[in-house]
Amino acid sequence: MPVYDYVCLDCHKSFETVLTLTEHDKEDVKCPHCGSKHVEQEAAAFFAVTSRKS
Ligand SMILES: [Zn+2]
Repeated sequence: MPVYDYVCLDCHKSFETVLTLTEHDKEDVKCPHCGSKHVEQEAAAFFAVTSRKS
């Protein structure tokens, strides 16, 4: 199952969660720190690591 990185917009803590695609579609994700549903998915880390050939 894929792991998604989220950041909570209320307490500004990041967390990762394992979701099925169905759960991800519902976007019913809660912050484990404060229980807020005001969370945003972070960009996947591997997008930041690009191999450049110069
Ligand atoms: Zn939170």
